[in-house]
Amino acid sequence: MTTPIYLDYQATTPVDPRVLETMLPYFQNAYGNAASRSHAFGWEAEKAVDAARGQIASLIGASPKEIVFTSGSTEAINLALKGVVEMYASKGKHIITSEAEHKAVLDTCKHLEKHGVEVTYLAPDSKGRHTVEQVAAAMRDDTILVAIMWANNEIGTINPVREIGALCHDMGTLFFCDATQAVGKVPVDVQADNIDLLCMSAHKIYGPKGVGCLYVRRRNPRVRLVAQMDGGGHERGMRSGTLNVPGIVGLARACELCEQELEQDAAHAIALRARFEKKVFAALDHVHVNGDEEHRLPGCSNLSFAYVEGESLIMGIPNLAVSSGSACTSASLEPSHVLQAMGVGDELAHSSIRFGFGRFTTEDEVDRAADQVISAVNKLRDLSPLYEMVKEGIDLSTVNWTAH
Ligand code: PLP
Repeated sequence: MTTPIYLDYQATTPVDPRVLETMLPYFQNAYGNAASRSHAFGWEAEKAVDAARGQIASLIGASPKEIVFTSGSTEAINLALKGVVEMYASKGKHIITSEAEHKAVLDTCKHLEKHGVEVTYLAPDSKGRHTVEQVAAAMRDDTILVAIMWANNEIGTINPVREIGALCHDMGTLFFCDATQAVGKVPVDVQADNIDLLCMSAHKIYGPKGVGCLYVRRRNPRVRLVAQMDGGGHERGMRSGTLNVPGIVGLARACELCEQELEQDAAHAIALRARFEKKVFAALDHVHVNGDEEHRLPGCSNLSFAYVEGESLIMGIPNLAVSSGSACTSASLEPSHVLQAMGVGDELAHSSIRFGFGRFTTEDEVDRAADQVISAVNKLRDLSPLYEMVKEGIDLSTVNWTAH
């Protein structure tokens, strides 16, 4: 079997060889526990963690002490939401979030609802975006937290984060931003963007899996959290557990490379996406872009192909590693909750595929991928009586084509 072309950069990214190289000594020689204070192995590990903290903070305009290491964004989200709810219980019990958030946020909110928290789920517009006015309208006296993601993992739509953050600061409400898909891809500055809590994950930015962090603002305002993990009191008591030193070093190197190469990476991903979409749109009709073309992550293209069924299309392109809807929910055949929230009909939602382009994608891969998609869609449409009718000019607006 030939290796498929990897076009699933929103699900995860390959580890950059430069990141791996930086990590290796921390498995082989410098394997100390960063909390060991009595010998050189511990000191060396601690030094590496300190340097990493500075590097990571630098990418997002934070200070090193504001970084709390976690096992990734899911854990950081749990710590942020549950930690805020517990700490600020006397202030209020209302959270505002979006129907289009990642399941890590939605399921944490569902958990909190069982414990008496009230959650407002805002519906995104047809492009998956929210407005600051919409958030303002949902604010209550007892709102303690707004959780709106920077960029959506399924469609790549980017929210007006800076404006939402400014609103939260005016209202004295904390603002948590899931920036897992945005950090390293677009400029993020927690000061200018008015963010109080932010999560990121190494495996989305060419680092290793299983490591990430939570940014917790220390000044104006100082954010306090109730820890969700009891133990040795690591990370200033906010997240106990022996630090994953190689992972943290890898996350930091990944951040450093993103900081240095952000513009180049973005230009590369945008050019490849444009090349891909141009080819596909030139060859196929009835293809829809899901998301906001004006405010979209550089490497993300979520397309719906009318008159074909998404799972059949995925099976028709076995040499492409892509995802239908979110990778995290692809085990179920439910239409994507994000597309549903945007008002995309079930038929088009089922025929949607997310293509993700990144640092190591080549033009040749994009061309071959586009050719394979075009050929598979054409083949499937040749089998579709409805598409036959469309070609003959019959108005199908009143026909439910999946019923056939
Ligand atoms: N939030 C978003 C927007 C994501 O894309 C992901 C990854 O799928 C997560 C959270 C969860 O991140 P992790 O895999 O680090 O737990």
